[in-house]
Amino acid sequence: MEEKITFLNKKILRCTKCKRLVNFRQKIAKEKTRRFKDENYWGRPVIGFGDTKAKIIILGLAPAAHGANRTGRVFTGDKSAEFLFRCMYKAKMTNQPNSDNINDGLKLYNVYMTPVLKCVPPEDKPKAEELRNCFNFLDKEMMYLKNVKILLALGRIAFNSCLKIFKTKKSEITFSHGMSYKIDKKLTLFACYHPSPRNVNTGRLNEEMMIKVLNELKDY
Ligand code: SF4
Repeated sequence: MEEKITFLNKKILRCTKCKRLVNFRQKIAKEKTRRFKDENYWGRPVIGFGDTKAKIIILGLAPAAHGANRTGRVFTGDKSAEFLFRCMYKAKMTNQPNSDNINDGLKLYNVYMTPVLKCVPPEDKPKAEELRNCFNFLDKEMMYLKNVKILLALGRIAFNSCLKIFKTKKSEITFSHGMSYKIDKKLTLFACYHPSPRNVNTGRLNEEMMIKVLNELKDY
């Protein structure tokens, strides 16, 4: 299992299939933002991270321009990560409440995390073709993470991508925060608002709501 994931990740790191995203991830890494102007940006695809024997997989949409595209680790070094890991720590799913950089010692307990799309898209809006290109990798991750029984999709696009990957056509399955759906014999898909600053600052998502969903996954 471990070897297959390692082999897959090496392949993902070499991927240049989506020309628009390759150009964009490199452009961001070169131009940077003032706050991080002295840092070396990652600027490559972002692979999954965590416990490869996990029961739970957490799916984000894509690396953030100055978050994972800078630090090289999913949900690391931005506001979404600050909120998410504070909640995950409180739900006893991590060894620490912060995810700042690749060497910060973060460990996930019974959780694996990965972006649906491995490269940062302009304005956080991937094209359908780019999502299709990258589905193949997520599909394989799911195949190799044999103990996964629960998928937590952060945000509507990650949620809808799961439905496509598992070819779920049931019309009653729609994105609704806190809801869970059996999508095949083994897997249950949970929906949760994305922990983006916009959702958190507008009060659409707060710590209590996030921790409630995380505790449900753990107890499921
Ligand atoms: S988004 Fe996925 S398929 Fe497209 S270049 Fe990045 S890793 Fe490759």
